[in-house]
Amino acid sequence: MATRIVVSGACGRMGQTVVRLAREAGDFEILGGIDREASTNEHDLPRIDTIATAADLVRQADVVIDFSTSDATAALIRERAGELRGKAIVIGTTGLGAETEHALDALAKDSAVLLAANFSIGVNLMLGLVEAAARVLAPDRFDVEIVEAHHRHKADAPSGTALALGRAVAQARGVRLDDVRKDGRTGKSGARPTGEIGFHALRGGGVAGDHEVAFIGALETLAISHHAVDRSIFADGAIQAARWMAGKAAGRYTMKDVLGI
Ligand code: NAD
Repeated sequence: MATRIVVSGACGRMGQTVVRLAREAGDFEILGGIDREASTNEHDLPRIDTIATAADLVRQADVVIDFSTSDATAALIRERAGELRGKAIVIGTTGLGAETEHALDALAKDSAVLLAANFSIGVNLMLGLVEAAARVLAPDRFDVEIVEAHHRHKADAPSGTALALGRAVAQARGVRLDDVRKDGRTGKSGARPTGEIGFHALRGGGVAGDHEVAFIGALETLAISHHAVDRSIFADGAIQAARWMAGKAAGRYTMKDVLGI
């Protein structure tokens, strides 16, 4: 039976790619989209609701796939929590605040919830590789710097993926990322404290997403990097996740669960 999906942020770059790939996959029924304005004829979807009018749409879905904005994701899970009960939600939106993270934990009591800063298999493998490297390359000998590049439209910095990579390093080192995080450096930034994790964000053009984690020692450097050629890899991963999440029990899931890694 086809998996019934609703795409939130349906008119955006990622939303449109998800709709296109889901159509091509053939095993999805696209019930409609959610975006800032309701319409019926744009983007060739059966219907487009706003969050406020999407109760019926969400009620009919197996899975909601969300690539919108941090505010829209927060509103969606707040206003449509009732209709999401017993269903799955796959969220790719980045830049969600701590409050939304807590709201997702609450939602996961009744719904299957998957949040991924990055849906590519390469980046999900990279998270494991970075964690393994951080366990060996001690903070007193290796400084970690994370550099990412994205297209000029990206709303948040550093990227959700860069932060996830930083969290992987911090976790392996037994510290909290917030205690060692340094975003950019400018002016009289002083000597680099031991254990600091530096983040640097480049923005321009149409870059789909590049990430590098460098472990910089006195005599050698290990750099682990990922280059996304096209954003369709993220939409493809989200579709795989939606297929896997349909009918799952309530709780929090990750791309590691979907990919079996
Ligand atoms: P975009 O700006 O092209 O699309 C966002 C869409 O959300 C737009 O159509 C916009 O109208 C809609 N929207 C805004 N406010 C809304 C509201 N209140 N209600 C409903 N819809 C609303 O952005 P994009 O490039 O498609 O990226 C969307 C999100 O996905 C961003 O947070 C981005 O960082 C993230 N992203 C994640 C991954 C991943 O692998 N997890 C990959 C790429 C992008």
